[in-house]
Amino acid sequence: MLITTDGLITRSYPSGEHDRIVHLVTPEHGRLSVMVKGGQSKTNRHAAITQLFTYGNYELYHKSGEMYWLRGGSVLHSFYTLTYDLSRMALGTYVCDVTSELTGEGENAEQLLRLTLNTLHMIDGGDKPQALVKGVFELRAMSMEGYMPNVGGCSVCGAAYPKTSYFDIMYGSVICADCQTGLNSQRSFGNTVAVNELGERRIICPMTDATLAAVRYAVTAPDKKIFSFALSDPEEELYFSRVAETYLLHHLERGFDTLDFYHSVEN
Ligand SMILES: [Zn+2]
Repeated sequence: MLITTDGLITRSYPSGEHDRIVHLVTPEHGRLSVMVKGGQSKTNRHAAITQLFTYGNYELYHKSGEMYWLRGGSVLHSFYTLTYDLSRMALGTYVCDVTSELTGEGENAEQLLRLTLNTLHMIDGGDKPQALVKGVFELRAMSMEGYMPNVGGCSVCGAAYPKTSYFDIMYGSVICADCQTGLNSQRSFGNTVAVNELGERRIICPMTDATLAAVRYAVTAPDKKIFSFALSDPEEELYFSRVAETYLLHHLERGFDTLDFYHSVEN
């Protein structure tokens, strides 16, 4: 069976001595593993359309129960210029990696794909700090996965905009300072690890008004405006990024080598 679909190359790795397998995240078929015959050769006729960060239109051959094979295609947009800057490339690679991880075969991935393309555009040519773009992507992607944090107000007493508040990573909720003092907590690494009455260890991040507002904005803003806000200084941006990352890693219960690499080269 032949299918034609738009899609983004989110991963690429060698298979055997000559071939290559790419992950193609498509709006309607989810993530497909696609065999590119002879794909390790730089002169392969599909080289241009199988690079990481390429968004294109692909013609695939598929036999039930077997892998997809690339027949041909054309580039719709390439984010190849991301590779001109190590930190941008590293962040783009991590974003694609998360998208691959969150998308299963046969799932509708239209929303996540749109978020990923918008995020790559922002990393590539946008004027927003990388930490902010990364944090928005992480929170938004997790919200689409069914882990939307509830950041409307204190989850215990209901206070709407508490002056001092904490973000509970495990429950994806906000706790005001008064309610938080009820928890037996220990500070470590800027986050607070608290133990509740059930003996559960909880990661509690102290939030400023601005960082809490940023989290709230990232998960509730309309699609087209998700990056349209600013934090006042790089330290706040980094903290926001760290909270978002902790949230994602905790709920996906895994780490990403591509994230470690990004941290080793980030601006
Ligand atoms: Zn409260």
